[in-house]
Amino acid sequence: MTSPPSGATSDRTVGDTGRPHVLILGGGFGGIGAARKLKNADVDVTVVDKNDYHTFQPLLYQVATDLLETAACGHPLRDLFHEQPNATVHEATVTGIDFAGREVRFAEMAPLTYDYLVLGLGAGVNFFGVEGAEQHAFPMYTLPDAVRLKEHLLRRWEAADRDAALVQDGAVNVVVVGGGPTGIESAGALAELFRSNFAQDYPGIPQDQARIVLVEAGSALMPMFRSDIRSYTKKALEKRGVEVLLGEVVASIEPTRVTLESGTVIEAHTLVWGAGLQASPIVELLGVELQHGNRVPAQPDLSVAGHPEVFAVGDIAWITDTKTKDVLPQLGSVALQAGEHAGENIARLIAGKGTEPFEYHDKGTMATIGRGTAVIQTRGGHTLKGRSASLAWGAVHLALLSTGEDRAKAVVDWTWAGFTHERPGRISVRTDKD
Ligand SMILES: Cc1cc2nc3c(=O)[nH]c(=O)nc-3n(C[C@H](O)[C@H](O)[C@H](O)COP(=O)(O)OP(=O)(O)OC[C@H]3O[C@@H](n4cnc5c(N)ncnc54)[C@H](O)[C@@H]3O)c2cc1C
Repeated sequence: MTSPPSGATSDRTVGDTGRPHVLILGGGFGGIGAARKLKNADVDVTVVDKNDYHTFQPLLYQVATDLLETAACGHPLRDLFHEQPNATVHEATVTGIDFAGREVRFAEMAPLTYDYLVLGLGAGVNFFGVEGAEQHAFPMYTLPDAVRLKEHLLRRWEAADRDAALVQDGAVNVVVVGGGPTGIESAGALAELFRSNFAQDYPGIPQDQARIVLVEAGSALMPMFRSDIRSYTKKALEKRGVEVLLGEVVASIEPTRVTLESGTVIEAHTLVWGAGLQASPIVELLGVELQHGNRVPAQPDLSVAGHPEVFAVGDIAWITDTKTKDVLPQLGSVALQAGEHAGENIARLIAGKGTEPFEYHDKGTMATIGRGTAVIQTRGGHTLKGRSASLAWGAVHLALLSTGEDRAKAVVDWTWAGFTHERPGRISVRTDKD
């Protein structure tokens, strides 16, 4: 499609290898996919992330609800490149990108120049300006988010155990915002944690006074799914003791109260936000016209228009599927495949060949509601529910985990929890000096 950009093999190199420098911003699914596909290319690869670990977002809610240990959702980035001698990893925060000068600036280290750039900085929470959300809501997009929510829940339950008046005040009630996969998975996992583990841990706190309320602005849960899945999901959650409020919008959030636009006030000391994403704020500095959710439009070969040496992958990118012309969702599998494709296209350019357009191989959109209960819809519209969907969900997510060690850890934890209903991560470790 595209020929090698002029100047792409200029003298902008790292070290003294004289090879082209590929700078990959973000060590998420997209960034890792791109870096790995460059393992055998004659280039120097630098991966930069603000954390020293890769976050496995799809399982964050399992950390927040004590099913998985923290380390199962974060893998050391450096560990992923031990077998890739042409790759270097730095922990640093990107603060600016200069396309014209082919240079990226960081908060903690000197700028780096590049011959090829991969933008894989992902997306973060979007509170849509809801009053009090920034200060009081618990989003679910990063590992610190998941750990913060886990610790907060444990502390609220311990406080309510010491003082019954707090139960009346809503200390153990949770409002979950958003009827998409993140909200559904969080509400389902909280229900299992409360109704099985906490019911035994805190016999003095009646479960009917520990409300889990799922609030969705639209008229149905999981709007992207077919109607049989939407009604199955609602019933499965209600069976687990989740109250589903449809057509309701959160107006404001205070530390112990959530007010809906309808005027209803829910006493709840915890609000989990799973309602919206926006691409990394860095994109506003790029000087390109952004799409919905501040996503950077990618060309069919995933390069950025006017910059054949820059590729946008994953949640930061607005990617249109070459075959179907559909805009692809912000999913781990899309990010990984797009990252790999960008890496392959860079390798082609370096070898003097043209790039290829990206085609997504869809494994279906899915969400798990609880133990043995999941829903899947394939692109062709086929649906799967219940235990078989749960097994397929497990297989797809194990395939996404970055190393065999992570996969083994997840299998052991899931299997153990499946047989015993145990959640061994249910402890709160204070690190402050009190
Ligand atoms: C709660 C939740 C559940 C999900 N469940 C599923 C699921 O079941 N299945 C599925 O396929 N997908 C799921 N997703 C979506 C999936 O996780 C994302 O689509 C995927 O992680 C996107 O990959 P990415 O590489 O684009 O971005 P990310 O994985 O977000 O990686 C971006 C990286 O960039 C780094 N970064 C960001 N800003 C900077 C900066 N300024 N400087 C340096 N580094 C920076 C971050 O630290 C991060 O490591 C879920 C997402 C969430 C939040």
